Amino acid sequence: PNYRTLDHSRPRYVRVNSLKIDVGCALQELAKTNEVKMDDLVLDLLVLPPGTDLHDHPLVLNGSVFLQSKASCMPAIALGPEPGWMVLDACSAPGNKTAQLTALMQGRGKVIACELHKDRIKVLEDTIKRSGASNVEILHEDFLKINMREAPFSKVRAILLDPSCSGSGTAIDRLDHLLPSYGTGLSDDDAERERAKKLAAFQSRALAHALSFPSVERVVYSTCSIHQIENEDVVNSVLPLAASLNFELASPFPQWPRRGLPVFEGSSHLVRTDMVQDKEGFFIALFVRKKVAIPLEE
Ligand code: SAM
Repeated sequence: PNYRTLDHSRPRYVRVNSLKIDVGCALQELAKTNEVKMDDLVLDLLVLPPGTDLHDHPLVLNGSVFLQSKASCMPAIALGPEPGWMVLDACSAPGNKTAQLTALMQGRGKVIACELHKDRIKVLEDTIKRSGASNVEILHEDFLKINMREAPFSKVRAILLDPSCSGSGTAIDRLDHLLPSYGTGLSDDDAERERAKKLAAFQSRALAHALSFPSVERVVYSTCSIHQIENEDVVNSVLPLAASLNFELASPFPQWPRRGLPVFEGSSHLVRTDMVQDKEGFFIALFVRKKVAIPLEE
């Protein structure tokens, strides 16, 4: 496949921001000028023909809808934050998933949107403003330095960890698929191998940090990478810690056919999207803390 061609064959996905408009109204409005249907898997997602240009559409400009791909909508849905919860978006800019989290929570509870890089805070603020959410607190901080024992972090019940990654799953002009290592690892490029290793070290530390928050019940780890080292290997590296904290891997989107590479027992819980079939390569892992049974008093 030629990825440039693939990009042109990628449907235009539109996530409806339920804080501002309901999906029926958005569909009706877009249908005035476009062919549009509901996605069959992802809530509040509309599908339009490839190449549809909506950048200047009033619904986009006023934050009623967001131009967000299907795969990038899946992590927040997998996390399933409940209205009223305290939720942490650990690596949040430009904020598409933060905005989606607040919509899933119907604007109730709180989302703390953490972002390390100062030059990305502005775009994060703009996204949140456009979304109309009033329950987001932006935190300019290194996620790894957050003291989870202090309020409000000690009360966080769900964490979305979508850290910096190689982005190899969205690099449409790459020809990695022609290399023997495609799909299971890295290309033959040494520089890229080193970069992915460094990213993976950060990703593992960040995931271990997320799992250690005292009240956290659900953690999603997601990337837009196709590399095993940033995906299954990162998850595998925290499994002993996760087990000691009573977490287990859960299966988001159980009907989704493409799962983690079979490199450890339980990897079929993981979700992958495929660069050819889904036009982008994403990865999602969901950890859920098992409820501890409280013995009934005699
Ligand atoms: N979740 C975002 C969205 O859907 O719009 C995309 C997140 S992007 C993949 C990763 C972000 O994490 C970048 O903005 C990067 O600056 C930020 N980041 C990297 N290291 C971080 C750290 N230690 N703490 C907080 N944010 C970090």
